Amino acid sequence: MIINVLLAILLVLIVLIVVLLFNTIRFKPDKRTSQPTGQVESAYKSEAEKDAAMARFQSLLRVKTVSYNDQSLIDYSAFDAFENTLAEQYPLIHANCEKTKHGTTGLLFRWKGKSDKAPVVLMSHYDVVPVNQELWTKPAFDAILEDDVIWARGTLDTKGTLFGVCEAVEAHIKEGTLPDVDIYLSFSGDEEISGDSAPSIVSYLKKEGVKPALVLDEGGAIVEEVFPGLDKPCALIGVAEKGYLDVSLKLKGHGGHASAPPAKTLVSRLAAALLRIDKHPFKSHFTPAVTEMFTTLGRYSSFTYRLIFANLWCFAPVLKLLFKKQGGEMNALIRTTIAPTKMEGSKAFNVMPPAASIGLNLRLLGTDTVESAIAHLKTVSGEAELEIEVMEKRNASPYSRTDTEAWQNVSDTIGEVWKDVIVSPYLMLAASDSRHFCEISENVLRFSAMTLSKEERGLIHGNDERITVKTILETVSFYKSLIRKFS
Ligand SMILES: [Zn+2]
Repeated sequence: MIINVLLAILLVLIVLIVVLLFNTIRFKPDKRTSQPTGQVESAYKSEAEKDAAMARFQSLLRVKTVSYNDQSLIDYSAFDAFENTLAEQYPLIHANCEKTKHGTTGLLFRWKGKSDKAPVVLMSHYDVVPVNQELWTKPAFDAILEDDVIWARGTLDTKGTLFGVCEAVEAHIKEGTLPDVDIYLSFSGDEEISGDSAPSIVSYLKKEGVKPALVLDEGGAIVEEVFPGLDKPCALIGVAEKGYLDVSLKLKGHGGHASAPPAKTLVSRLAAALLRIDKHPFKSHFTPAVTEMFTTLGRYSSFTYRLIFANLWCFAPVLKLLFKKQGGEMNALIRTTIAPTKMEGSKAFNVMPPAASIGLNLRLLGTDTVESAIAHLKTVSGEAELEIEVMEKRNASPYSRTDTEAWQNVSDTIGEVWKDVIVSPYLMLAASDSRHFCEISENVLRFSAMTLSKEERGLIHGNDERITVKTILETVSFYKSLIRKFS
């Protein structure tokens, strides 16, 4: 009897191993995602042309279009100056495209195409985050070009892509290109502070009945060392972005002198509530963007990871547990995250506060909404008197499919510019202006056309932001090549 049971278990185990191995062996690189061409011509024909282009880039970087959350600090004359610089540097765009202004700083150019088929929108933003000049090696707004590297705030985020779009359109107009469809250039000057420019552009386009076939904004890039077991560069295209929620958890009481505290103080009750919230993380889910990312990149991973990603039906629970333990980016891909960021009580050591609060920043996975997230916090906190004040909120964006012409065009263009990179969808953890465009388009893709090393990714919003000339030239090539697909 026991032997029969053992034999049965052994048989099941053997079958399981065979199935797992069979799936792993079949889980090979997919032709659709392998792009080994890299055959596009360079962006400029001569050194002189290239130097002139770099001078144009420098002129954009030198304008101090800094966004501050405290809007009284914003120097709007810099934004006017940027608009003028753009007009000086790109006369053909200004002569051939209809320009309209929206919201506080939004600029929209319409390059009219041959047909009235669904248009393309190329997005970027020209505001930048403030700098802490003492921590920079070089002046942040001089755009110094040294040893084929340009140093300036905004090189990566994201005057670089704005420059790429403008260079490409200007060059195409010069060559006499007439696109098949309208191509819109949508540039906001308040992305970093979630301003009204991009929403205003969207409501204008909506009123005009415009339904873009492709909206391309900043987002993923060509990166390495981001996926377990993968040592090849991959181009990550954001197909969705997480939602955002800032809440303040508050408990109110009587306060009083600290010499005779009650058995349970306000602050300790609030701390206990936070610990209970911590112990009950949001449920994990493999949303379509993440499942697609795993099944695309997993094929190129080392054997162990291929075994895991080829058999998500079996290993998903293990993976979820592992990511939860690790925290960080992989965990953020599969669940709504909670980051406690602020705490406030009394201003004095010897005074008990009449109110205490903890600030939380949540990033919502599409399976959770603002309402359901607040309900979750309330339930698991176990604190009946907890008040939850919402400071900022938005749900996750919809998901853009990858079996579309829009995806194929972007993906093919990547293959033409960069040799041997794996193109994969991914879920963006940060926010971009593109989320507003989901209202008028099903094909909103988020890809910053540049190769970014781990070190370079760390420079975004940090010190010593800089870009290599080689990288920025590839950005221009990407947009030139992409526009050709619609011409
Ligand atoms: Zn940005």
